[in-house]
Amino acid sequence: MTYDVLLKGGHVIDPKNGIDALVNVAIKDGKIAAVGADVHGEATKTLDVTGHYVTPGLIDIHLHAYQRFGGWLHPDQQCLPYGVTTCVDTGSSGWQHFEDFVNTIIARSTTRVLAFINIVGAGMAGACEQDVNEMVPEPCADMIKQYPEHAIGSKSAHFYGPGWEAAQGGIDAARLSDTITMVDFAPMPERSYEELLIERMAPGDIHTHLYASHIPLIDENKKINDYVWAAREKGVIFDTGHGGGSFWFRIAVPAMEQGFPPDTISTDLHTGSRMRPNATMVSTMDKYLAMGMPLNEVVYRSTQKPAEVIRRPELGQIGVGAEADVAVLEIEEGQYGLVDSGRARMSATQKTSCRVTLRAGQVVWDEYGLSCLPWEEAGDYKMLP
Ligand SMILES: [Zn+2]
Repeated sequence: MTYDVLLKGGHVIDPKNGIDALVNVAIKDGKIAAVGADVHGEATKTLDVTGHYVTPGLIDIHLHAYQRFGGWLHPDQQCLPYGVTTCVDTGSSGWQHFEDFVNTIIARSTTRVLAFINIVGAGMAGACEQDVNEMVPEPCADMIKQYPEHAIGSKSAHFYGPGWEAAQGGIDAARLSDTITMVDFAPMPERSYEELLIERMAPGDIHTHLYASHIPLIDENKKINDYVWAAREKGVIFDTGHGGGSFWFRIAVPAMEQGFPPDTISTDLHTGSRMRPNATMVSTMDKYLAMGMPLNEVVYRSTQKPAEVIRRPELGQIGVGAEADVAVLEIEEGQYGLVDSGRARMSATQKTSCRVTLRAGQVVWDEYGLSCLPWEEAGDYKMLP
């Protein structure tokens, strides 16, 4: 057997397939062909990844990749250098512009881009996000159903009126399209977080920004509220959505100490969160490592679990036959600092970087040229394979 790519000597962590060991990974025709310590043979490209971790391509279920939101970033540049091969845009577009989003960004990206469609018809475009007349479930649901390959549900966010039009509109659009909703919630005296979690959201629906300072996850004694535990018991999903304002160590640390991690690790990357809090996927994962989450669990909440949450269980794993989306990560030891959304710092002794990313078997990121020939041995080269 001649493979296209052979990753040799790495420590594979693939929670879905129960692998946490030094094994080789072989890729052929864009798919995983073999995984095991005894997998050897010829390959067009053999990468020595000794000393690295090899994981399924990471899944970031919260970022912004469309222009209706002025702070958007292109999915390839904000994903592939950080090991992310599947991302979910969270409501940058509403139903009115979703076709344009598909044609201009989704269809042209190397990253697999999925999307929650905003309950606001005009999407994340300023004043319209407060206009309840824009929050109509039926056209949102129709657009989700029209694009099952790309649209995975609805999104509500950034609504500061007193009513339930945004959150309940998103929930209704999800029920009408038999999908899920992601809620970015701002509690008001008229609408509580408890009512959202317990009375309105269904199992599988996602609350993003669980460690945000405006979310009453913990009470004044830093104890997780009972109704939050009840919501998790019921099947509500809690997502990180780091962002520029939604990840605070002063909430995350006591929550983690009480055994309340997020279901999913995600970035909410946009132009703001990319800068001072450096909310890339690997940096956000480092924050959980620094708070004591074991590495295999960090990988689980960045691969298998988000795949299940977005109802794409074939993703986030590298079993034989899976599309070969793979991240090669290096974790260095040293003295580092990690910055939260409130600009507070946590000391860390580990720093994760993505050295190689493969998407459908193609090397799409290779920071140190692990897949490349030394130039002195490459002869009179033009473009090398
Ligand atoms: Zn967001």
